[in-house]
Amino acid sequence: MPVVDYDALTEVIDIPTPARELLSRPEKQISFALSLPLGDEFFCADAHVVYHNTARGVAKGGIRFDASVTLEETQDLAELMALKTALTQIPFGGGKSGIKADPYELAPLEKDSLIKEFVHMIRKEFVYPLDYVPAPDMGTNPRDMAIIYGETHIPESVTGKPPRNGGLPGRREATGRGVAAVAALAWERASGESLEGATCAVQGFGNVGSWTCQFLADMGVRIVGVSDIHGGIYDEKGLDIGGLTEHVNAGQPLVDFGPAGVSNAELLALPVAFLIPAACGEVLTEENAESVQAKLIIEAANHPTTSEADAILVENGVTIVPDILANSGGVVASYLEWRLGKSGTMTNQQETYEVIDETMADTAARVWDFADDRMSIRTSAWALAVDELVKAMADRGWF
Ligand code: NAD
Repeated sequence: MPVVDYDALTEVIDIPTPARELLSRPEKQISFALSLPLGDEFFCADAHVVYHNTARGVAKGGIRFDASVTLEETQDLAELMALKTALTQIPFGGGKSGIKADPYELAPLEKDSLIKEFVHMIRKEFVYPLDYVPAPDMGTNPRDMAIIYGETHIPESVTGKPPRNGGLPGRREATGRGVAAVAALAWERASGESLEGATCAVQGFGNVGSWTCQFLADMGVRIVGVSDIHGGIYDEKGLDIGGLTEHVNAGQPLVDFGPAGVSNAELLALPVAFLIPAACGEVLTEENAESVQAKLIIEAANHPTTSEADAILVENGVTIVPDILANSGGVVASYLEWRLGKSGTMTNQQETYEVIDETMADTAARVWDFADDRMSIRTSAWALAVDELVKAMADRGWF
């Protein structure tokens, strides 16, 4: 089942039947076994690579490395990437990879070997590195991207590399910067008030969650609750985000940082002005949507809200800034990195931030203007993205 209900979306925009057919299924996909001899033992993981749509450019999308990975989830994430690049008008298509294993069970050199094996497999099956550009997602990081670069020797074959390995200054924090920027824009539109002192809870304190917290804290937001896979912490006076970041970066468990503990379920129901899921998918469901007290949800994670939960939340007057808008700062920066890799030029962190901030502001304005109180922000973002994709497919003569 695709994430978007393309038939329902025809109430808002024209989507010819063949375009609906093309968008409702992946353009191309492969599943394979990744194997790794580990001394006397043998490690094996399922892997999937999905190209959802490449009408607008090469398939762009991160590599998720997590024990919960499935082909269906990888398909959903690839579809969201196609929508995200279309919405932000970046000349990329959408794809995604998934490796079904717990990355934290592997020693660094074992993980390196598995990533190299992944590159060998996709080179065999696709025309990689010409048709797919991976990046980090849950469970993968800049070092993994540097390992991929080491295999291809082509700078634009992968983004999210460390700056000293052909990466982009500012890429590491790009998604969090974009989430914070769009949170500020959405808050202004929803309340007309200053962000200073507004309360917020963030689920997930990995790359996206931690940088989102840091940028929001810099804007004066009071982050009262934060969690990771092991649970959360809560302080109504506001958490010391700088101290928490140091604590976590030093390898200490987030839940040991200090203030009162909360479960992930409790975190999602905290009495906050806005809620930011920044971890895994489908955490807001039919079962817990009624308990959400925040009136603004910024989807830093991909697909954190099921369609049933979305309907309940919208009915309850909650504004949801959808993933394809909220977390697009990462792919915007990836595009810059890809362009620099192709041209061999340089940029700096400030320029990266400026491009992200401008793209988020421009995209958010288009989405809110098109919604114009006639539809939800999610429907508006989907409609603009799908319209772009339909036109691109028509231009390519695909229907
Ligand atoms: P990450 O691996 O760096 O961090 C994931 C965080 O989520 C960790 O703190 C982990 O403990 C927590 N977590 C995992 N499972 C959880 C659970 N069941 N309950 C609560 N917390 C849980 O991953 P990331 O790169 O920060 O990605 C987070 C989300 O943001 C994902 O949905 C990803 O698809 C999305 N995203 C990431 C990027 C990027 O640039 N990295 C870009 C766009 C979207």
